[in-house]
Amino acid sequence: MTARATMLKPGATVGILGGGQLGRMLALAAARLGLRCHVFSSERDACSFEVVARSTRAEFSDRAALERFARDCDVITYEFENVPAEAAAFLAARKPVFPDPRVLETTQDRLVEKDFVRSLKIPVAPYAQVDGPGDLEAAMRAVGLPAILKTRRLGYDGKGQAKIRKAADAAGAWHALGGAPCILEGFVDFEREISVVAARGQDGRSASFDVTENEHRDHILKRSRAPAPIPPALAGEARAIARRIARALDYVGVLAVEMFVLRLGRRRVILVNEIAPRVHNSGHWTIDGASASQFELHVRAVAGLPLVRPVRLGRAEMINLIGPEVETYPRWLRTEGAFVHLYGKGEARPGRKMGHVTRLWPDPALAKNRRK
Ligand code: AMP
Repeated sequence: MTARATMLKPGATVGILGGGQLGRMLALAAARLGLRCHVFSSERDACSFEVVARSTRAEFSDRAALERFARDCDVITYEFENVPAEAAAFLAARKPVFPDPRVLETTQDRLVEKDFVRSLKIPVAPYAQVDGPGDLEAAMRAVGLPAILKTRRLGYDGKGQAKIRKAADAAGAWHALGGAPCILEGFVDFEREISVVAARGQDGRSASFDVTENEHRDHILKRSRAPAPIPPALAGEARAIARRIARALDYVGVLAVEMFVLRLGRRRVILVNEIAPRVHNSGHWTIDGASASQFELHVRAVAGLPLVRPVRLGRAEMINLIGPEVETYPRWLRTEGAFVHLYGKGEARPGRKMGHVTRLWPDPALAKNRRK
């Protein structure tokens, strides 16, 4: 069990495991609060190295490097969920690690995660465990077709997934995923995809952002809009689900819960798709569109600083610049009111998130709320 950290003072050091753009934006938020960051990543040109004073380039199996890193940090967190459990536990024995590494055991395995969400009586798409090709037939009978075969571990941005439209596709899908343990999940004919980014502090208090609507292209998030155009009661339900999950995990920090909105006649229901135990791409709009961003709330939570209800500043839209799309950034720089973020990554490989743009418009509903 991780010790609870006391409130960090300016000048203290937050350790970040992982060196991608999420770590970079966390470090920038930490700097605004007077905190230093030390990034630990195995990548040679991790894009967060260049915005922090201290960095360690080493493998997560390198105990000596982890030991030195722990010694330099006052508190440690992560910016990606696939930090090996042993490394997280090694660090947690030395310094406070938030969220607790036990959270990773739940969220690193799709089967364990779905079982956990279902145990909270929160609806998920039908799913079945598939350990070998022999399980496929029964799984298809249980969840129905079409369905998606997903590897239990290490899937992201649609990687480790294969759609099964008819029974004859099943063997091919299994081989395409390399024979790894999987779950088969019923295909959800959703009306829209939404997510809730929520923060929970060391004192158990929580705060969440307005529900965001997410559009994917080739399984990668392309566009997020906040607030999602859904009825207020449904938005309240979505936020309550995220808070319930955070509480059940005894979570400290920011998490995102991805959900499907499904239309059943005139009724709409929410199914939880996935939990991301970290800051999330669908929360990037909060940097420019809210009084405190998801990155700031995460830093506040892990550093033991007070959380605050984030105030949305307008109607927000965030567009990811993926792969070569990043070349369009001069156009965005000339667009009035656009907030341009480039991650300073090298090669603009297809599918690689290179930056994002946020735009804000006045939201008459906000003015009305303020007058109330
Ligand atoms: P995931 O990695 O599970 O978040 O999946 C990435 C994207 O694939 C989701 O955001 C959806 O757009 C799509 N997807 C995943 N699971 C399902 C499902 N059961 N039914 C329909 N679409 C899905």
